[in-house]
Amino acid sequence: MEKSGAERNRTENGGSTLLNVADLVDNDTHLNLKCIHCKRCGSKLVRDAVATLLEDRKISMPSMHKKHEGSDKQEESDTFWMLKNLMEFENVGVTHTVDSIKYLCCADCEVGPVGLTLVDKNDEYLVAADRVEYR
Ligand SMILES: [Zn+2]
Repeated sequence: MEKSGAERNRTENGGSTLLNVADLVDNDTHLNLKCIHCKRCGSKLVRDAVATLLEDRKISMPSMHKKHEGSDKQEESDTFWMLKNLMEFENVGVTHTVDSIKYLCCADCEVGPVGLTLVDKNDEYLVAADRVEYR
């Protein structure tokens, strides 16, 4: 299977869900106002007031899928929640390294990737804002 991080296979289906992050972020601290949960099983990934909103990145990741199913499609996200280390998550799974990227998935149902971290920048864990839900 030919696969790499980066820009390949970007989908053009306009799949960006309309996410109103303004309702989800504290304007002063840029921290998340609500807990971040897995869209599929509802498991809590991050509690409130832990992750910092980033809107200056565009990163492509494989489409969401269950572990072992695989996905060749890439989808771009441009809004992320940043955490500094794995201890800041309530619950998260980390994949093996692919092209110096580790993807984050739900520790309970293994759906992912919901985010990623770069191996040479491991003080930055990014969760794609449109791949999770908020409560
Ligand atoms: Zn889950």
